Amino acid sequence: MSLPPIADNLARVHERIARAAARAGRSADDITLVAVTKTHPWAYVAAALAAGHRDFGENRPEEAYAKFIENPEAADQPFRLHLIGPIQSRKAKIALACRPVLIHSIDRLKIARRLDRLAGEQGIVLDALLEVNVSGEPSKHGWSPDALRAELPELLALPHLRFHGLMTIPPYDPDPEAARPYFIALRELRDALAAAFPQADWSHLSMGMSHDFEVAIEEGATMVRVGTAIFGPRT
Ligand SMILES: *Cc1c(COP(=O)(O)O)cnc(C)c1O
Repeated sequence: MSLPPIADNLARVHERIARAAARAGRSADDITLVAVTKTHPWAYVAAALAAGHRDFGENRPEEAYAKFIENPEAADQPFRLHLIGPIQSRKAKIALACRPVLIHSIDRLKIARRLDRLAGEQGIVLDALLEVNVSGEPSKHGWSPDALRAELPELLALPHLRFHGLMTIPPYDPDPEAARPYFIALRELRDALAAAFPQADWSHLSMGMSHDFEVAIEEGATMVRVGTAIFGPRT
């Protein structure tokens, strides 16, 4: 099996991040590149680790668990695993067993309550982001801005979840500029929530994928989730 040029691709993505950050007067150090390895085998992760990369994103908890936790090759490797996809209630346990550094995709009160209870049983606190459906597309996960505002008092009171900001996935459009209004909307929502709920940490905006991460950085992303631009197309 021949691998794509993962180290070169990572270097190129880092350069693009640095240029986008510079355009926005930001430091590239404030932006975490989450390399999305869903559907790809461990060898892709190993190549990125060898290139010095540490932050990886997976969509499905079962796949993340098999690749990063159960897999003997992953033992003692210095990765940080981010869960970035929707978590079904019956997958909450396995999501926790992945020991994620951050769950980007808490998208409803029910899963928040369940993860909070399970984390409490294990005596841990989970770091997480709240996923917002800024476009209102029915196919997208996440709260509407109004629903999130209404449920935030209960969310912020969950003792074993610690929130750090917002995540979104805009409607797909091959033109990256089409995503800009949604990135702006997420940032403005974050600013409003930070003013209304100053007890929480609102420092992170997880937004931007392979085709639009530069626009997301121009609009304030602190985490970009990039798969294809690093690992090539998924089959
Ligand atoms: C797959 C995925 C990505 C990465 O998508 P690319 O277009 O391959 O960069 C980012 N975020 C989420 C939530 C994903 O599921």
